[in-house]
Amino acid sequence: MSTIDDVIAEGRPDPQPRRGGDHLSPDVMIYCDRLVRIFKVSGVEVQALQGLDLSVGKGELTALVGASGSGKSTLLNILAGLDQPTGGRAQVGGHDLLVMGAKERLAYWRSTVGFLWQQTGRNLLSHLTAAENVALPMHLAGVRRKQRNRRTNEILELMGVADCRDKMIPQMSGGQQQRVAVGVAIANDPEVLLADEPTGELDDETAVEVFAALQAANAETGATILIVTHDAAVSDHVRRTIAIRDGRISSEVLRSTEVDDEGAESHVAVQYAALDRVGRLQLPADYVEALGLRERVRLGLEPDHVTVWPGQSGQQADDAQGGNE
Ligand code: ADP
Ligand code: MG
Repeated sequence: MSTIDDVIAEGRPDPQPRRGGDHLSPDVMIYCDRLVRIFKVSGVEVQALQGLDLSVGKGELTALVGASGSGKSTLLNILAGLDQPTGGRAQVGGHDLLVMGAKERLAYWRSTVGFLWQQTGRNLLSHLTAAENVALPMHLAGVRRKQRNRRTNEILELMGVADCRDKMIPQMSGGQQQRVAVGVAIANDPEVLLADEPTGELDDETAVEVFAALQAANAETGATILIVTHDAAVSDHVRRTIAIRDGRISSEVLRSTEVDDEGAESHVAVQYAALDRVGRLQLPADYVEALGLRERVRLGLEPDHVTVWPGQSGQQADDAQGGNE
């Protein structure tokens, strides 16, 4: 049976990457350190990111889930090299996004990152067929026709849209279009694929197909994929789900599959909370609600864990403790 440490070690390369100048551990693909983004609108400041820390390992398929306005698109625009943070550090695939010049930025867009946006219109050219859309990035990168055609067919097959090969984009359903768009995004084998609400305009059933296509893309190409969404259903398709709240990472869930001695598989989910540099952590809302935690909680330090009790009177707390042991 794997322990929590195994799950962490497997799911996350190194939560505090080694810092030697700007060189992170080679296993870390996306790294944000105290990222801040403040927007000023007619003199009023909006803190969209409030010191966000994030580390995503090479080849991971991760979902970042949060309510509308929690800072998801702000983060993704920074990681995409389309926006600059107000403070903090951000690195993707060895590129420092804060100091990147125009030339490096172009190379970054061409060969390091691929994008998938919510609006299919932003992902695909509607006057081309599905196959032509997938082949286009390879064409621009100088891939020869024979290899281009072979890879285009492979990708359409992988995305489950081989039957749409010669269809124009408007002749396809929304789900088919987004699956072709995943194909376009992986055509040139990017190291990182960033997806902003890729299922935002789709119904639940179709959304599942798109999440499955992203899962397949991750498994086949080994690309690091970060899916940003308010759709909690994404957790069924990724091993790591991170919650973003008010521009900060608040908690995360890591899933692993265990096989017992009889060969039966079971899925294990372990919930984590982000702990910042001064020791602050946020309890998940459902934990707070379940125990009616308010204002103040009582803490206890055990040899290998910390206990959190409702902050009631001494006698009540003693009773509660007695009843739990
Ligand atoms: P999400 O994608 O999670 O819905 P956003 O990153 O779009 O959230 O927005 C986070 C916060 O930043 C919101 O309060 C939003 O109004 C604000 N915001 C985002 N972009 C801008 C902008 N360009 N100008 C001003 N405020 C912005
Ligand atoms: Mg958004």
